[in-house]
Amino acid sequence: MLALQGAFKEHERALQAIGARTRLVRLPAELDDLDALVIPGGESTTMTILMERMGLWEPVRKALSEGLPALATCAGMIVLARDITDGVNGQHGFGLLDIAVRRNGYGRQVHSFEAPVRVEGLDHEFPGVFIRAPFVEDTGTADVYAVQDDQPVGVRQGRLTALCFHPELSGDLRLHREFVNAL
Ligand code: GLN
Repeated sequence: MLALQGAFKEHERALQAIGARTRLVRLPAELDDLDALVIPGGESTTMTILMERMGLWEPVRKALSEGLPALATCAGMIVLARDITDGVNGQHGFGLLDIAVRRNGYGRQVHSFEAPVRVEGLDHEFPGVFIRAPFVEDTGTADVYAVQDDQPVGVRQGRLTALCFHPELSGDLRLHREFVNAL
């Protein structure tokens, strides 16, 4: 887990509950020999600033672009995106996912909500917890992996999976299990 900011503890708990070994990443050297990286939800602007400050931005970008698998949720999705609308002060993403997102794009009235999500490969809907979630405006060449009301809320591209919602807060371990099993 990238552990600079946000909901990394909850991801750690979910991964440990399914028997995965976990490591908190706060320094570049902690990226060595990882099987995969989780980029958690939180605040993408803060996470980006902290990554730059800790010298993690370029090493993480390089590792992911060389094929390190990642599960990115919410703010993590924004960090991976090609285009960010309503970012702060020229906020940029890694551009490793060919998607355009609007930060906090679900609007004021529905900053946070729960809704059933259809996820590719799952028999039953997944309880989607959306918290000031990014709205996916364009999926480019990425594959749509999850939808809520016909709106893409999960995408995949290469070994990157990004979700608008928070599986680590749902109490449902299926998506973490799927991700780990596919490594
Ligand atoms: N709105 C946050 C951001 O822009 C994302 C919210 C979240 O990760 N729950 O980074």
